[in-house]
Amino acid sequence: MPRPPCNAKIVATLGPASADRATIEGLVKAGADVFRLNFSHGTHEDHKRRLDLIRAIEHDLGKPIGVLLDLQGPKLRVGTFADGPVKLLEGASFRLDLQRDKLGDATRATLPHPEIFAALQAGSDLLLDDGRLRLRVVSCGADFADTLVVNGGMLSDRKGVNVPGVVLPLSAMTEKDRADLDYGLTLGVDWVAVSFVQRPEDIVEVKRIVQGRAGIVAKLEKPAAIVCLDAILAETDAVMVARGDLGVEMPAEQVPAIQKRIVRACRRRGLPVIVATQMLESMVSAPVPTRAEASDVATAIYDGADAVMLSAESASGKFPVEAVAMMDRIIAQTEADRYYREAIEASHTQPPANVPDAVGWAARSVAGLLDVAALVAYTSSGSSALRMARERPRASIIGMTPKRSTARRLTLVWGVHPVPCKDVMDVAEMTELAAKTAVQLAFAQPGQTIVIAAGMPFGTAGSTNLLRIAQV
Ligand code: PEP
Repeated sequence: MPRPPCNAKIVATLGPASADRATIEGLVKAGADVFRLNFSHGTHEDHKRRLDLIRAIEHDLGKPIGVLLDLQGPKLRVGTFADGPVKLLEGASFRLDLQRDKLGDATRATLPHPEIFAALQAGSDLLLDDGRLRLRVVSCGADFADTLVVNGGMLSDRKGVNVPGVVLPLSAMTEKDRADLDYGLTLGVDWVAVSFVQRPEDIVEVKRIVQGRAGIVAKLEKPAAIVCLDAILAETDAVMVARGDLGVEMPAEQVPAIQKRIVRACRRRGLPVIVATQMLESMVSAPVPTRAEASDVATAIYDGADAVMLSAESASGKFPVEAVAMMDRIIAQTEADRYYREAIEASHTQPPANVPDAVGWAARSVAGLLDVAALVAYTSSGSSALRMARERPRASIIGMTPKRSTARRLTLVWGVHPVPCKDVMDVAEMTELAAKTAVQLAFAQPGQTIVIAAGMPFGTAGSTNLLRIAQV
């Protein structure tokens, strides 16, 4: 007998290793729920081709699939070097400046970002190449910084630069991001991830452009974002714990606690949260993960994260389908563990006192008290399903929606199995359709109990105000 679907979802990044139809279909069958199109790489045509394949597979498999456009954001980079990579020696001096026409050497490099020089002070640290090299600013002006090499190493063309602890006067959107966003919205992506968010205004700026056409994911990868976490959560629709850059911007040993803090804060608000980066990193080149990686995925699941994400493992690794299948097995095994329910219950918090959350909370209580086969959210905006998912109930949630875009967005949400359906006119019709769907999808058998949440009048976002207990 097939096992019930997992609660936690899998986000798989597409790339050269997963650009053909057979592989993408293999990823879906292995358990991928959402595909991430990483606009830091590839052309618009590459992304369109992949999205067209996803939509064709979605149609053929009859299963909504989510698509997340990940914007590159203001990734800072050094310029290029005259004679290839240079070696920076510990204790040596190294200058960064704005001279765009001059190629770099072992004494200087171009850093074509005036905003950085405006924000630097003597004593500021710059991290290069994912934190492998560290430079400390000795003196600086509007167009240069003289630095001391603290951690040396090889530096090559266009390596990334991080400025930890400094709030840079940069918008989270570059010109490239605006063009990518416009393009992605015309393609009909479901989620847009905003990189290097530093403050709530960064999310507000993107929301103004997106106008509800996609959900917004705030990528938390800057210490500044952690400082104003609550204000960012108040604006965004979902969150990604982007541990790659986060672990460069702050000491690696601080990342686990921050991850747990973010997951907990998102669960309290009922915001979907993705734990990302290096989850099964060794599967880029090996068919099995390390035990520590398997444990890392399981930890995110015990914490109640909505989704876990694969980057290079599925985008450019040798074993993309195996990586998704392995992640799926770790999730299933973890969710079947007796301690999983205990952990989920122990980290559950009382929802805020409002009608939609009270309905979600009541649905969870009913599922805890009665032998409930499934919970059903009849939802237009997705809000009723989110309120139920916030409660992390024992029973699966069927997210029935007349809006295809909502069904696709709900693929990211813990425990929700999105099902597109027709519009209904009244509660009786909704109840009948919910019962029929629960049986058809094998979530319930005739005679069993289901719990349905919805908002009246139908179609009004955030109006969840109805709980119906019905016998199938
Ligand atoms: C990260 O830094 O963890 C991340 C997901 O961002 P990206 O892969 O876009 O650099």
